[in-house]
Amino acid sequence: MKRRSFIKKMGIGAAAVGTGLAARAVPAYAQKKYNWKMVTTWPPHFPALGEGADLFAKWVDEMSDGRLKITVYGGGELVPPLGVFDAVSQGTVEMGHGAAYYWAGKMPACQFFAAVPFGLNAQGLNAWILNGGGMKLWEETYAPFNVKPFLGGNTGVQAGGWFNKEIKTIDDYKGLKMRIPGLGGKVVKKAGGNAVLVAGGEIYTNLDRGVIDATEWVGPYHDLKMGFYKAAKYYYWPGWHEPGTGLEIIVGQKAWDSLPKDLQAIVKSAADRSNIWMLSEFEARNNAALQVLVNKHKVPVKQFPKGVLKNLKKLSGEVLSELAAKDAMSKKVYAAYSKFLKEASDWGQLTEEQYQTFKHL
Ligand code: CA
Repeated sequence: MKRRSFIKKMGIGAAAVGTGLAARAVPAYAQKKYNWKMVTTWPPHFPALGEGADLFAKWVDEMSDGRLKITVYGGGELVPPLGVFDAVSQGTVEMGHGAAYYWAGKMPACQFFAAVPFGLNAQGLNAWILNGGGMKLWEETYAPFNVKPFLGGNTGVQAGGWFNKEIKTIDDYKGLKMRIPGLGGKVVKKAGGNAVLVAGGEIYTNLDRGVIDATEWVGPYHDLKMGFYKAAKYYYWPGWHEPGTGLEIIVGQKAWDSLPKDLQAIVKSAADRSNIWMLSEFEARNNAALQVLVNKHKVPVKQFPKGVLKNLKKLSGEVLSELAAKDAMSKKVYAAYSKFLKEASDWGQLTEEQYQTFKHL
């Protein structure tokens, strides 16, 4: 027995010497392969947003040398677009890609991590979430659902929307039927308008037939593709209701815990890369699309009058206060968000605002 055991050990030893390098190159933990599913709220490969999800999966594959494969599904392919959060929460799939404000019915506080009327722009939202304490609150908001959030992109300042009626005073919102979701929709309602929800594919027809008087969507890049310029008279700016909408990449807690540390770091890095890629994509494409809208399609670009924006801002404050009064988590997040917004805005007045004003001199 002793001799056999000795020979066996020698044999293993010899083999280990012979393949020592290869054995070290692929440690046991690195041999395990993960095949994950990521469901999204976007149509398959949707410009910028769905493409961001596709790229995220590609980068994870590259960085992990194929150890973590993520198959991306468009909205409705595996679960309905608005079923993404539940699917991740319940562990039906490992990951999701969308925007936090879609889950407002479940936990109203989530809206602060996507878009707040007259709130943080992309730069501010990144600063708050990544470096200003926002991520801890986001994690706390999602923890009861066993979901872990990451920032996965940003649209930048969106467009104010397409209108068939001119907006000269706040009273022009009275009776206005506008497709505008979320907190912005609540503000329009407070101004006497009728905020309606229309699925993406039906907006154009509704606008064209006068079922709605106005719609917001994203920005020139997406709006041009939707053809809204053929169905509406005016293109209004700025998108006060979505000044820099954050997109999210979510992972089920159980799936996250099952990953070795290096793959967790890869997921985090790919999300960060996705975040900067998407904002840059919007910034580059929007400008080019706006030129087409203005120069080729002769779209009249209009700015909301200052008085209208002032009134909308006041109403936004009321909407947010009411939200905080109704929900404890929203109150907590709103307090932190407002404090950061105030400081960011003081700083921004000295820096970005001054620069944007004076660069035209
Ligand atoms: Ca929008």
